[in-house]
Amino acid sequence: MNNDATRSSLELLFNVSRELARSLDLPAVLPRVLTLSVENVGAERGTLIVLDENEKPVDAAIVVEGQLISHTSSQLQATLDQGLAGWVLRQREPALLQDTSKDERWLRRADDDRLRTGPKSAICIPVKASERLVGILTLVHSTPNFFNSDHLDLLQAIADQAGIAIYNALLYESLQSATRRYRELFEDNINPLIITTWEGKILEANYAAASATGYDLSELVNQPFEMLEPLSPKKLREFAAELRAGADVSYESELHGKDGRNYPAEIFVLCANIGGQECLQWTLRDITERRELDHLREDLSAMIYHDLRSPLSNIISSLDMLKMLIPVDGNAAIQPVFKIAERSTERMQRLIDSLLDINRLEAGQPITNKKETDVREMVFEAIEVIEPTTESKKQKISVVLQEPIPPLIVDSDMIRRVLINLLENAAKYTPVDGTLSVGVSHDKTWITIWVQDSGLGIPLEDQQHIFKKFIRLHSERFPKGLGLGLAFCSLAVQAHGGRIWVESQEGKGSRFIFRLPMNSG
Ligand code: ADP
Repeated sequence: MNNDATRSSLELLFNVSRELARSLDLPAVLPRVLTLSVENVGAERGTLIVLDENEKPVDAAIVVEGQLISHTSSQLQATLDQGLAGWVLRQREPALLQDTSKDERWLRRADDDRLRTGPKSAICIPVKASERLVGILTLVHSTPNFFNSDHLDLLQAIADQAGIAIYNALLYESLQSATRRYRELFEDNINPLIITTWEGKILEANYAAASATGYDLSELVNQPFEMLEPLSPKKLREFAAELRAGADVSYESELHGKDGRNYPAEIFVLCANIGGQECLQWTLRDITERRELDHLREDLSAMIYHDLRSPLSNIISSLDMLKMLIPVDGNAAIQPVFKIAERSTERMQRLIDSLLDINRLEAGQPITNKKETDVREMVFEAIEVIEPTTESKKQKISVVLQEPIPPLIVDSDMIRRVLINLLENAAKYTPVDGTLSVGVSHDKTWITIWVQDSGLGIPLEDQQHIFKKFIRLHSERFPKGLGLGLAFCSLAVQAHGGRIWVESQEGKGSRFIFRLPMNSG
């Protein structure tokens, strides 16, 4: 290229870059890139196909003699599948066709009929933004041998700039559609949603938030969120680090409506970047019905447990009377039947007492009937209770005691039931011929009691959850059970100022450990 040609090329590139910088809008950028290329290379027509990240056509512009003409997606796909653009897409290198009629890469259409338009020349180059292919640019001239390598260089220089412009336009478009999607989701969400600054100033609220609180949208914007949810400043301070680290946080609180009505709500907060600003998104879920249902269920269960108790006491006293009336001891036919009846009633009694205790302890009632308890005796009593099960499963039980064990001041019936629960579970979740052991150790501050088994074990991720109510892991293999036993153990131990936990390996067995303060009285 001579000096004049170099200068005009530079001028052209400068104009191209200025033109392309004018808009981020893909429908505006495409025809501009194409027209500039067609005009500056002196081509008759041109096509620019834009590709998405999967290299599928997403948009295109076609210019014929200065006019933009429409296209269909099947035309674009055909060009990419069989035409010159497809070859460039696969090879990732430019192509210069001096005579289209002699080149197999040229897709012949009806308008390419040799008799009508004759052979042409074409140039086709990949349009890239760094390494990503964002488009294919094809220019055509009606005479063969029109294009030369200078055209190719010039077009490549234009394409390099156009690639960045197209890439930015694609990014802009996906950002726009993500923002549109977010707005739709926000506005149409059935949950009340509120966006605030970190200082708690309301920036936006959706329709559900307005109708839930009784305020108009305009009355909410710029107001402190605290006006609706008084706990929010305190909770923000508490959870700031978690929220900034990207976690979402939830808590229960009370929402204050415009009409003075307060209702319980579960609040979910997360930190979101909205329009380049770091904001907080609050989802407010009305839990009035759930609370009412909870209360109803608690009242109902308390009533049922109470009503089960009195007929059970009647059965127990009737059994005692029968024992006095019929000489049971030594009677081989009656004694085992009596034993079964006694054990079953005791078991039912323990279950009802534990269910009642769960209700009481959850309501925060303190332990009142503490008394001095002989732990050694308690361990052997508990073992005696589960012996029929362990004997039928041929399981061995060993006891490891750090003696002498100082007396403990606890609600002995409750702690005995904790131990029985752990032993019952150990026997239940351990196969035939397995081994169980119970241990007690102590120091000045704590007494530690553990129950170990060689059973199924508990996966690490479930170990914390099993102490919650109604959580059951092996429910298919062991259909019986409510998932309340460990919840009771945990509440009872905590109410005594202690702690319970499990150490377990799946397939190898579990060790449930609880410790109680020595001076809990
Ligand atoms: P339940 O035994 O009635 O299902 P629990 O609250 O006593 O309820 O126990 C909760 C769950 O913890 C059980 O369903 C069981 O999957 C698991 N689990 C408890 N103890 C053991 C144990 N010793 N070995 C293996 N899994 C256990």
